[in-house]
Amino acid sequence: MRRTLFESDHEDFRSSVREFLDRHVRPYADEHIRDHGWSRGLWIEAGKQGFLGLEVPEEYGGSAAADYRFNAVLGEELAKVNAAMSSCFGIHFDVVAPYLVELTSEEQKHRWLPGFCSGEIVTAIAMTEPSGGSDLAALRTTAVRDGQGWVLDGSKTFITNGYSADLVVVAARTSPQKKARGITLFAVEAGTVGFTRGNRLDKVGQEESDTAELFFDGVRVPEENVIGEVDQGFIHMMERLPQERLGASVSNLAHAAQILDETIEYVKERKAFGRPVGSFQHNKFLVADLVTRIGVSQAYVDQCVQAHRTRDLTAVDAAKAKWWSAQVQNDVLDACVQLHGGYGFMNEYRVARAWRDARVTKIWAGSNEIMKELIGRDLGL
Ligand SMILES: Cc1cc2nc3c(=O)[nH]c(=O)nc-3n(C[C@H](O)[C@H](O)[C@H](O)COP(=O)(O)OP(=O)(O)OC[C@H]3O[C@@H](n4cnc5c(N)ncnc54)[C@H](O)[C@@H]3O)c2cc1C
Repeated sequence: MRRTLFESDHEDFRSSVREFLDRHVRPYADEHIRDHGWSRGLWIEAGKQGFLGLEVPEEYGGSAAADYRFNAVLGEELAKVNAAMSSCFGIHFDVVAPYLVELTSEEQKHRWLPGFCSGEIVTAIAMTEPSGGSDLAALRTTAVRDGQGWVLDGSKTFITNGYSADLVVVAARTSPQKKARGITLFAVEAGTVGFTRGNRLDKVGQEESDTAELFFDGVRVPEENVIGEVDQGFIHMMERLPQERLGASVSNLAHAAQILDETIEYVKERKAFGRPVGSFQHNKFLVADLVTRIGVSQAYVDQCVQAHRTRDLTAVDAAKAKWWSAQVQNDVLDACVQLHGGYGFMNEYRVARAWRDARVTKIWAGSNEIMKELIGRDLGL
């Protein structure tokens, strides 16, 4: 079905993203895996193209797109080429951007946004802790007022861009007795005394992405680095998590759809018993099932993108999109591996890596179980 979400401006933008990926990313796929990360040069190049500041007003160096469809185009194109890249760059341009644009003072915007847009300030967001990620309101990292600022103690884990980020938005407990109403967001900058990072974590997939543990040992953060309102951090996060989940949904489907397209080509070529393997009824029906799942899911996610543009997307809409797209992506990629036979298990085949890369989407950004919990709660259950 022809998608009606995008207009010619979005398609022009898509072409420029593809050109960037063809020139700066595809040829270096092996290097990115070997280095477990992206060079700063790649971030700077993305900044020059205007990809990093889509949500940022022009006066601070952004592209001021003010239309979530541009975020969606960028997320889709990155995911088609490399799931890890869509995660790392997505955390920056799609997840952290709203915090730095919507919750900051004029002084903070001038301090951070130009570098954010140029790629000189790479960002991360640190909510999850070793003791747990699903129950965000129970986080244990503390921030205690001290003179003109705050002192942070605690640790975070599984933080995307955590190893290389220049600025990390950290959620910390400021009022122990208030649980969800006692959390505040802080910008912790690289080089701040007491802020250290562990090694890049060794993951099952997305080797290119940089995921790290962060440690805060008596870290002094000035008052000017508080993001949003004191004790309102949980609400600030809840208000922005739907966009994070929508961005994840967009990438999940684009990633699966791309690998499915490549698999369809493969099963047309690969022969068994003198016939293309895709021509056996079992496989033909399987592929028919997979393309239907992608197409039907795409219609819902596109509708969510439209709703987000007009600020009508609810947290429950986004939760449905997130868990469903992650499940469909994983089901589709598992079938794609099967259709590739033994080659589907070889790392040199994109399908094998895609299958490993996708596994995490059912876990992060709020696990699929937590998404269903939100949906069930909304039904009064
Ligand atoms: C590669 C990677 C990158 C990540 N990037 C970031 C990042 O940039 N920033 C960040 O803050 N976090 C990040 N995360 C963390 C991620 O969001 C958490 O892993 C996730 O929220 C789950 O938290 P947890 O791992 O502590 O699992 P737990 O909360 O310990 O949950 C364990 C299991 O129990 C289930 N469970 C928990 N509560 C319930 C319930 N009420 N009902 C039913 N089942 C339940 C969960 O669904 C899960 O299956 C990342 C994780 C990974 C793996």
